[in-house]
Amino acid sequence: MKIGCPTEIKAQEFRVGMTPDAAAEAIAHGHEVLIQKGAGVGAGFEDSDYEAQGARIVDTAEAVFDEAEMIVKVKEPQASERKMLSEGQILFTYLHLAPDRAQTEDLIASGATCIAYETVTDAKGGLPLLAPMSEVAGKLAPQMGAWTLQKANGGRGVLMGGVPGVFPARVVVIGGGTVGQNAAVVAQGMGADVVVLDRSLPRLRQLDDLYKDRFKTIYASKAATAELVAEADMVIGAVLVPGAAAPKLVSREQLSGMKPGAVLVDVAIDQGGCFETSKATTHQDPVYEVDGVMHYCVANMPGAVARTSTMALNNATMPFMLALADKGWKTACADDPHLKAGLNVHAGKLTYAAVGEALGIDV
Ligand code: NAD
Repeated sequence: MKIGCPTEIKAQEFRVGMTPDAAAEAIAHGHEVLIQKGAGVGAGFEDSDYEAQGARIVDTAEAVFDEAEMIVKVKEPQASERKMLSEGQILFTYLHLAPDRAQTEDLIASGATCIAYETVTDAKGGLPLLAPMSEVAGKLAPQMGAWTLQKANGGRGVLMGGVPGVFPARVVVIGGGTVGQNAAVVAQGMGADVVVLDRSLPRLRQLDDLYKDRFKTIYASKAATAELVAEADMVIGAVLVPGAAAPKLVSREQLSGMKPGAVLVDVAIDQGGCFETSKATTHQDPVYEVDGVMHYCVANMPGAVARTSTMALNNATMPFMLALADKGWKTACADDPHLKAGLNVHAGKLTYAAVGEALGIDV
């Protein structure tokens, strides 16, 4: 199969759909790989790195879309890219169709077979192509929060690890899933005093079994959350209620009871945020202040570490990409119900029920 990887064109997107390693694997399976000139540069991969693995560099996105039977990307195709999709072509990328009618209609009209990373499942009921980005965002959250805690950046002027004779920072992580676990591990590793709150007792048990010597776990009742937030130097919001907007767990009123210069890092901002005062920010201008409390609310945190994120994403997508290329989408999906769960649009029809419900389109 001819597999094509264009340069990402969404603003501030530096990741790339295929690493040179992924290209090498596909070529070893007998496929041909076309990479748009410069596609990997944002993630630190030169055209020559791809060529060394046997991939062909082409000048334009048009050339990739014209020739490739499968397009592998990172972000949902932008309007100009959607125009280049053709009937029967496979598109394998993040789509996030439910809130995006224009994209959904264009993909239906294209006649392409569109498989969304975010709805591919695994045997444990998880989302294996979303998990690596949650790991990245979780590990990044204390790092960005620590930067924001510095006085010159608007924070309280507290060092995460403290020093002998001075308390470390108090970090409260709300939500102990993939983001929360990774955030807690890194915050504790930086020397902070860490508490993780969750509403799932099985999850709290799991975290306690793994990490009881490193951080504490507390059930996320309203009262416990309020008390811990008031004492915190940094609060990391990491909750997810599948299929719903994030619940608001810290109100504006609570900010006045927090320590001046404390930091809120709202990782759940891509689901609307879990603090009442959160609004999405960008890597260019990531932090703002409300009532003396600093807010870091970047909606695409993994973009800050595009190289790590690209490699982590490719590790997860590669087996599915190879299955699609080796067997064609039909057999690959018939053989693997978890990959089939990724199928969102095929041959002019929406095929994913939740998107149909959200947009009122027949499935
Ligand atoms: P997850 O499903 O692994 O974990 C979510 C956890 O939240 C679960 O353990 C759940 O029990 C807990 N929870 C739900 N409601 C709660 C409540 N009221 N109080 C306390 N805990 C509660 O999800 P995840 O992969 O860790 O993702 C967390 C959030 O981070 C999601 O909103 C996700 O979209 C977001 N995210 C953002 C970025 C970014 O760049 N900003 C990147 C990756 C993920």
